[in-house]
Amino acid sequence: MKNLLLAAALALLAAGCATTPDNTVFQMSTIDALLVGVYDGHLSGRDLLRQGNFGIGTFEALDGEMVVLDGRIYQVKADGSVVEVNHDASTPFASVCFFNPDIRFDLTPASDFAAIEEQVNRIAPNQNLFCAVRISGKFKSMHTRSVPRQQKPYPPLKQVTARQPEFFMEDIEGDVVGFRCPEFVKGVNVPGFHLHFISRDRTQGGHILGFELAEGRGEVDLLSRFHLQLPQDAESFAAADLSRDRSEELHAVEK
Ligand code: ZN
Repeated sequence: MKNLLLAAALALLAAGCATTPDNTVFQMSTIDALLVGVYDGHLSGRDLLRQGNFGIGTFEALDGEMVVLDGRIYQVKADGSVVEVNHDASTPFASVCFFNPDIRFDLTPASDFAAIEEQVNRIAPNQNLFCAVRISGKFKSMHTRSVPRQQKPYPPLKQVTARQPEFFMEDIEGDVVGFRCPEFVKGVNVPGFHLHFISRDRTQGGHILGFELAEGRGEVDLLSRFHLQLPQDAESFAAADLSRDRSEELHAVEK
């Protein structure tokens, strides 16, 4: 009994040590930089994984959707295929954290995207915090998209997503991975929910446009720190006009 208590105390101590520096969203570049076409890779996968084991993003030249899960980086390509990427692959935009869920909960079956948002908001009502969200389950349907690799001069994201490949999956198991960001991140990240999907067998996925959950478990990690890294040496970033409100453009490319 004494040993058990000691083990529990040590585990708590270890968790405490792990959560203090880990209570952070790390982000490379800004969403508005991505919107205007700053697709040069600024950070390697290796360096990204030093900042977190869970998250979402994209790749150099906008070469597909990124899912970071359990310390592995997956690339959902425009043809729908999924590969685990080499850590030399670099990213122009990504958000990651070390995922240590604060709350675990069962989700109401037959929930769609909006219903899941509502359930997460009920479980994690402080919408002025960042929140990492993982949903593991069976999905009756899953609708995603990816984006094709671009050539220079890079077009704005809106132009790319106007012709985005979309994928419709049915009766599929997998993980939803992403963040709920506070409204005040406008211009920097995506306010509200931004979720990506990867199937259990890691062969399908993408940026989520819609889904219907059959059954699943939710996990939420509340994050109170935000670490923004800007691409200091990138000419494309230096030249980008980031003074405008691009909320409408963002809505058009994300939803
Ligand atoms: Zn996305």
